[in-house]
Parts: sequence; structure tokens; C-alpha cells
Amino acid sequence: MSAGVVVIDRGIPDGPVAPWLDPNTPIGLASPRQGPEVLTWSRAWSNGAGLTDLIVLSRPRDGRQARGIATLVAGSRPGVAATALVRHANPLGLAAAAHVALSETRSGSVAHRLIDEIISLSVSGARLARVTGLEDPQPSIWQHLSSILGRAKTVTFGPTPAVLPAGHTFATGPGSTLLMGAGLETPEAVAVRARIEAEHVYAVPPVVECADAYGSRGIEFVLLSQRSAQPTPWGTCRICRTEIVGHVCPMCRVRSSRAESAA
Ligand SMILES: [Zn+2]
Repeated sequence: MSAGVVVIDRGIPDGPVAPWLDPNTPIGLASPRQGPEVLTWSRAWSNGAGLTDLIVLSRPRDGRQARGIATLVAGSRPGVAATALVRHANPLGLAAAAHVALSETRSGSVAHRLIDEIISLSVSGARLARVTGLEDPQPSIWQHLSSILGRAKTVTFGPTPAVLPAGHTFATGPGSTLLMGAGLETPEAVAVRARIEAEHVYAVPPVVECADAYGSRGIEFVLLSQRSAQPTPWGTCRICRTEIVGHVCPMCRVRSSRAESAA
């Protein structure tokens, strides 16, 4: 059993699926238009690492395409269970959650649950020089004007996205980790670090270019919080045999009872 994740976002350029962070971990980046490319990628991983579960991860605005790509892969590759997971976060937050999850488990359903939990406990955002090209969240007229006057803004992308003053500070707990999609010494990274006092701070390769994704120079970041224990699978799905941690299989959406799972 081996799970992989493809992060879909319209800020990612067209082309073959690109690896993110670690070429040995099955995490790919793709634009929402690259369904056939994702299929090719899943085939390559299936041959090499025995990929059995694929999670297509996206933001709500690309959710329809993510579901379409999951359906395409599931329909074309009988040995691969594929599902879409659509959550509010920025592309860096999605990729980071996938990486943390896959470094802890290769079970598709456990990874699905972990990604969901990591995203719900994280703050993903961007510090942008301008918000005049931003669509979601939409800045107010005053934020728009102050942005034109050259005041940077911090934007968050959770379930209630917000445009905040650049000086906004974020509370951090023990074990918190701040990931930034650029070098730690860039002026934008220094500004973000001054407002988020995380226990660990790392620079990681960007998932999207801010100019493409948000229409402005800037930096994406994600603040990850310490989690409770890892979910434990209690059985296997009666249809696709993947390990399950809840009663509904995240890969094929079928409900299993303990009796069926044990059978
Ligand atoms: Zn299943």
C-alpha cells in the first residue's frame, strides 16, 4: 500500500507534474488542466513505488477539476484508488500538509485523515506587496487604496479568509513550525518571521509564484501546529481493502462496519 498526493492549483504552470520538496516522496504539483499528465505521473509512480492510493488535493476554486482528475485516474487505473480532497488553504499549505502526512504514513486513508487534520490546525497565508490583483479574499476599498500607496498586506486563506495589516501577529504554540516558500533572508521572509515566532522555521521551494497566483510580489507561508497522536486504522474497506480510520472509506466513499471489515 502506497499513497501519493497531487496538489492542483491554477497558480501552478501547465506542463508535466512537478515533484515538490523531495523527489523520492510521491507529491506532485499540477495545473488544473493537466489531467492526462497526472495520469502519466500516477503510472510512473505505480510502476516504481507501487502507488495504490492517490489523493488529488486542491482549494475550493479548483475543486471541480480536482474531482475530475481523481475520476479520470480511478477510471483509467484499476489498481489505483483515487479521491479528491478540497480544503481552504494556500497551495503551500496543501503541499506541506501532504508532505507531513506522507512522511508519517503511506496508507491513503490515514494520509487523507492526517492531511485534513494538519490543514485544520494550520494557518496558511501570504505576505503580498499589493492586493490589487487579489480575488479571494477580496480586499475592501480601503485595503485596495492603502495597497496602491505601497503598504504590504498579510492575507490568510482558511475557511474565513482575510486581508490583514502587514503588522498582524499570529499566536504560536509549542512545537509550531513556520514554512516559507522562499529564502529565509529575503525582505518578505524577514517581515513574516518578525510577526510569527514559531519554534522551528524553514525555507522550502515555492509551490506557486506569488505574481502568478496573487498578482503581486510576495511570499507564501504556512504555520503548522503540533498535533495529537496519529489516527490508528481499525480495519480495512470492504470494497478497496485500504486501511480505514473512520467508518466511511475516503478513497471509495463506501461505509464499512467492523463486522464487514473483519470478514
Ligand atoms: Zn474503499
